[in-house]
Amino acid sequence: MSDTEPKGPTNFIEEIIEEDLRTGKYGGRVHTRFPPEPNGYLHIGHAKSICLNFGLAEKYGGKCNLRFDDTNPTKEEEEYVQAIKEDVRWLGFDWGEREFYASDYFEQLYEFAVKLIKKGKAYVDSLSAEEIRQYRGTLTEPGKESPYRNRSVEENLDLFERMRAGEFPDGAHVLRAKIDMSSGNLNMRDPVMYRILHATHHRTGDKWCIYPMYDFAHGQCDSIEGITHSICTLEFEDHRPLYDWFLDELEIYHPQQIEFARLNLSYTVLSKRKLLRLVNEGYVSGWDDPRMPTLSGLRRRGYTPEAIRDFADRIGVAKNNSVVDVALLEHCLREDLNRRAQRVMAVLRPLKVVITNYPEGQVEEMEAVNNPEDASMGTRKVPFSRVVYIERDDFREDPPKKFYRLAPGREVRLMHAYLITCTDVIKDENGEIVELHCTYDPETRGGSAPDGRKVKGTLHWVSAAHALDAEVRLYDRLFLKPDPDDAPEGQDFLANLNPNSLEVLTGCKVEPFLASAQPGDRFQFLRHGYFCKDPDSTDEMPVFNRAVALRDSWAKIERKQASS
Ligand code: ATP
Ligand code: MG
Repeated sequence: MSDTEPKGPTNFIEEIIEEDLRTGKYGGRVHTRFPPEPNGYLHIGHAKSICLNFGLAEKYGGKCNLRFDDTNPTKEEEEYVQAIKEDVRWLGFDWGEREFYASDYFEQLYEFAVKLIKKGKAYVDSLSAEEIRQYRGTLTEPGKESPYRNRSVEENLDLFERMRAGEFPDGAHVLRAKIDMSSGNLNMRDPVMYRILHATHHRTGDKWCIYPMYDFAHGQCDSIEGITHSICTLEFEDHRPLYDWFLDELEIYHPQQIEFARLNLSYTVLSKRKLLRLVNEGYVSGWDDPRMPTLSGLRRRGYTPEAIRDFADRIGVAKNNSVVDVALLEHCLREDLNRRAQRVMAVLRPLKVVITNYPEGQVEEMEAVNNPEDASMGTRKVPFSRVVYIERDDFREDPPKKFYRLAPGREVRLMHAYLITCTDVIKDENGEIVELHCTYDPETRGGSAPDGRKVKGTLHWVSAAHALDAEVRLYDRLFLKPDPDDAPEGQDFLANLNPNSLEVLTGCKVEPFLASAQPGDRFQFLRHGYFCKDPDSTDEMPVFNRAVALRDSWAKIERKQASS
């Protein structure tokens, strides 16, 4: 969004922000944050939150912090911190100097807790975790007060200090807010603020053995950083009264929590816990497996940051949960790559064709358009010679009706080259077709006949003498059902894994143009889809991932909607 063309609010969060700007609620400031927990890699759902938070800061001339929500030392790792930073940068966002960690504020949070104890608003409880659960009550039954609830301020201060000093084992005590055990909102029934955890933290090492809970950390971190609009997903709506309670009782600067609907995508799981299982249990090759909905997986698959940002724009921001069709995400990538991707010819399942009347040893350089959508990308030379490969599927000995490609006696066009006619089919002793003999018409250079005769089929090809060998990996959806969690009784999402989500083709033949391709470069393989060179590539064997096929089911849905 540009500064010169101010647009009005495009969603309810922008409406809130514009109202706050009008009334001067935060002195005209807009300051958001993206708060990932470094316990996994970012996925496409996080991308929605990143685009929203950084996008709002950009649109309203504000700031967006990157804050690691690192309050759980047992699940968090430095590896994830690095991966998250790389992914946010790759998406095209910049947090400047504002890289923060909840752990930076552990001392301050401790002081806040002491303040609440002194106000009589927090107490050390010595019930076990199980007892705390039982005392909590249910949605229909009020909770029961802990026998430790009325400890004196002095005793609480003493115990809390000794918790910090490491005098007690894990689970011996917790610090709880003293709110209301009969509240209709379970989050308000004396929530736990601190727990004892003798664990090494990836940043603070062994300095702490008590760690704040998410609910006690998050709002206070927002407050310390001067966040204006603290945007989170809908599950936290019931936590907002608690978010407000802590800030009000602490009498500190008070940001506004706003909830929006998280992204759900068909045929995809977006829970880090489930993604972690796919990785740890070996169902995929890693967090960046091209079938994963992680940003690193999508990047390796061939997704562009532009396509993902466009997707985030199109799905918008709403207040109610829904499931977005994964076909829309694929559509956004096709649109982007259609505009930008270099076209090349690649034969995935080769069939040898000998052009019997073409001079042995002759090579012609055929001119090929690099991208019909963008003339500025120019043309390239593609070598043509006596032996070429075509796609095995592009020949049928007994062509069915409407099969317009090559067949015995039939003439077709080799794209950018000549018209050829099939004269002979050569088979091995098992009756398998091993090669075709064709003749070419030298008058048809470039692919059209001077006498105006038409051919229906146009095939891509590569010159056998010039082709590079390649491996191609074709991907299908990782799950068979739109809702992977819809599993048979007693089973989970893993029951819906698609056993055929990866097909590896070896012995592919690609244009010599691809010799200079680098891992991460994206191409359209004519008639096959968009492909991205994989980092597994070696000098001898480049590997290409299919990002997305050419057939666009989303465009079809849109056309249908438009015509009805
Ligand atoms: P999970 O529940 O899978 O562990 P999370 O929400 O706990 O995910 P965080 O690292 O805490 O993961 O998320 C960081 C930010 O990204 C939060 O503000 C969260 O609301 C947002 N976020 C996470 N998942 C989605 C999603 N599917 N759609 C939109 N925003 C999301
Ligand atoms: Mg979270």
